[in-house]
Amino acid sequence: MQKHIYILATGGTIAGVGEAGATEGYASGVLPVEALLSGLPRLPRMAEVTGEQYASLNSDDITQAIWLDMARRLDSLALSDRYDGFVITHGTDTLEESAYFFHLALRTDKPVVITGAMRPATATSADGPLNLYQAVALAASEEARGHGVLVVFNEGIYSARDVRKGNTFRTHAITGGDMGSLGLMRDERPVFYHASLKRHTARTCFDLSGVESLPTVAIAYFHVDAQPDILTQLARTHDGLVVAGAGDGIVSLRWEARMRQLCAQGVPIVRATRVPDGAVFRNAGMSDDDMGTIAADTLSPEKARVLLMLALGRTRNPAEIQQMFLQY
Ligand code: ASP
Repeated sequence: MQKHIYILATGGTIAGVGEAGATEGYASGVLPVEALLSGLPRLPRMAEVTGEQYASLNSDDITQAIWLDMARRLDSLALSDRYDGFVITHGTDTLEESAYFFHLALRTDKPVVITGAMRPATATSADGPLNLYQAVALAASEEARGHGVLVVFNEGIYSARDVRKGNTFRTHAITGGDMGSLGLMRDERPVFYHASLKRHTARTCFDLSGVESLPTVAIAYFHVDAQPDILTQLARTHDGLVVAGAGDGIVSLRWEARMRQLCAQGVPIVRATRVPDGAVFRNAGMSDDDMGTIAADTLSPEKARVLLMLALGRTRNPAEIQQMFLQY
């Protein structure tokens, strides 16, 4: 029997419209989901599809309120026997943050696949149609079950935990960095080679029922001559901080002293790095034991922020939060 895939369209370049043939100078999030689907000739024989225009946004305007609402909607749709899998179309700018949020927050084993495009729908060689087609194919596949939220882009399959945007305009913009891809797509056929060992979706400990808003977390970006006062100011207006340090998550002596002071006052601080690949392992580069900080492991500052927001809904204890950073 044909699988039934539910699509939540949120906008982005995949629904972008501009001058015919041009790749830049377009408006994001213009075309409705029906228009995106009508350009996929092989779709009807692959899956039954229901499309919902959830939003028409540039993904830079996604908010945590949208995340919470979408997560509830997806979780309740996933309870229905009518739907076998889900696709979210999303702008690529913040796709990695939404993908990781849903990876941590959804409570289903059914496939959830996110995709987007680097070129608007009106460009020569627009990349959206193949990305969307393959996202539906992956969501309809048995192979995708149990991997958590997946991202399909440019014929690669990525775990939401590892994926990030690594190029500002080229079509191979989405990458898994050091963690690579989980598999490949050829037409509608997914082939998996790897699986993430980290916890997600059906095995998550994060429960959003009754949650109206998430704790606030700011990212402080370290650079030469960065003023430590920024840390204090951010700590006043947020529930937790992620520091994007240099190299191994390292900061100046002045930032280190301020971070130590804030941690002693009970501010949860995650130590991440502004370097795209590698990891900030606990007590490597700087002593987290000594400072009271939490090490981000391989999570980027943006992903560390997502996990810290969810973690702070459960605990403010740095040791417990560190465990979550090792598990998720
Ligand atoms: N600015 C767009 C967005 O994130 C870029 C894209 O979709 O590629 O919505």
